[in-house]
Amino acid sequence: MDLFPPAPFPTARPWAARLSPAGAPDVRVVSRAGATVVALPNRYSVTYLLLAPRAVAVVDVGSNADVPRVLEALRWLGRSPSEVRVVVASHLHCDHVMGIDALARELETPVAVGRAAFDAIRGGPPLRFPDHRDALHLVGGWVYQGLPSPSRSDWPDGPRFGFPNAPNPFQAELRSLKDGARIDGLPGWTVLETPGHADDAIALFHRRAGFLVTGDTVRNFLGGEWNPLQVDRASMQATIATLQELPVHTVFPGHGPVLEGKGVLRGLKVVGPWEP
Ligand SMILES: [Zn+2]
Repeated sequence: MDLFPPAPFPTARPWAARLSPAGAPDVRVVSRAGATVVALPNRYSVTYLLLAPRAVAVVDVGSNADVPRVLEALRWLGRSPSEVRVVVASHLHCDHVMGIDALARELETPVAVGRAAFDAIRGGPPLRFPDHRDALHLVGGWVYQGLPSPSRSDWPDGPRFGFPNAPNPFQAELRSLKDGARIDGLPGWTVLETPGHADDAIALFHRRAGFLVTGDTVRNFLGGEWNPLQVDRASMQATIATLQELPVHTVFPGHGPVLEGKGVLRGLKVVGPWEP
């Protein structure tokens, strides 16, 4: 028996996404051991909704065009917007955050970011972005994502979030998520700092369910791979080693379809420098 009626919105299937061996992601509801995650493929990345009996957390909203889709998803799931406790940014990259402040203001919830992002926004060490050597991976990701064109709704405020030297002018209340932090109202979920793809990258881990929401640390364009776009290769290696020790059964990547299976993280591909 299906828990929910069919999603009222089609999954975007742009032709270019068919070039990705993994294909375009679907709207998915995955439940295990009391935890539920909803995958909502959006314009530039996948938004995830973490559901608890009386609370919801939203992870990543890449575009202002995604905001109505998240609200529609809540209606579809029979959840009140007032149940959303927090909107989380897995890391401050534009394709994950341009709509995040708008959604948080609409829902009157705080935005939560990793400790490094919080510190950078408050004038601490700036976040590094991948350099030109990674341009091939950047272009490859854009093609596999389906060549998304910029949304008119993101102009002019969207580009103030998640770009190099962007001020990230959050108007919603901003909270910092340290390594080991819990998510308010969502029992079992823990924050992990996962630097490598970005200095401020975080993942959300539910041990009992074996769920890991990875942001861009993992992408799934080629069947499941560690993101080759990295600001710090040594940190990425340490992050990979740490994550591979965890009992993860289901990976919710920043881009592409959900990955499932025992030991799924040990099967992820390492992308070569000349592969997109
Ligand atoms: Zn990213």
